[in-house]
Amino acid sequence: MEEDNQSFFWIKSEGQRKLATENLVPGNQVYKEKLIIKKGTEYRLWDPFRSKLAAAIMNELENFPFENKTKILYLGASTGTTVSHISDIVGPNGIVFGVEHASRVARDFLDRVASHRSNIIPILQDARKPKEYFSVFGKVDVVYVDIAQPDQTKIAIENCEMFLKKGGYFFLVIKTRSIDVTKSPRKIIEQETEKLKTKFDILQSIDLHPYDKDHAMVIARYKN
Ligand code: SAM
Repeated sequence: MEEDNQSFFWIKSEGQRKLATENLVPGNQVYKEKLIIKKGTEYRLWDPFRSKLAAAIMNELENFPFENKTKILYLGASTGTTVSHISDIVGPNGIVFGVEHASRVARDFLDRVASHRSNIIPILQDARKPKEYFSVFGKVDVVYVDIAQPDQTKIAIENCEMFLKKGGYFFLVIKTRSIDVTKSPRKIIEQETEKLKTKFDILQSIDLHPYDKDHAMVIARYKN
């Protein structure tokens, strides 16, 4: 096993080097991912075909601000696949505020993920109304946005203005096909990053291919 940092791990499984996080809730699986015990510690394999953050790591993500004690606002928690790995990483003293508006999905998120993990605070709200997240307190270190909405960049900026600390990190998943089907993915990424430039320094933009063909991820830092 290689330890790249304390946040995620590379574990040999079936002859391949695979990404994993240390399971915060030993024995608990979220999406049928493989659990592996090494030297008495349990790890969960982190599937880049199921999680865009894992895909970004596979594709040379340069900044990884998720670590022990990090506080994160995550928009578009869905059933909690990625949130669960972030919860592993930030540990018992970190917090993930997970916002999800679709009630059926949110129920799954609660049952399968949030109810087992004390560092996740589920917020059943519309990301367009950040003033209604009554349970978010203080500023966060990272805002992560994966809501697949045409106006997601605007929504994301409003959330950052309310909750992201200065110098904090911003991860934006861009669904290159949902915004405008007539434009090329590269043009869409340029168009979206342009909207960020007054308030953010753009650090990286990552194509998530081959793990995810329709998405890119933009990583930026909130200006001081
Ligand atoms: N990030 C998830 C993962 O990696 O496991 C997948 C997110 S999925 C592509 C997008 C999610 O955003 C859906 O569950 C959808 O219900 C949610 N969503 C879309 N618009 C939203 C909004 N305005 N407020 C809150 N959640 C929203």
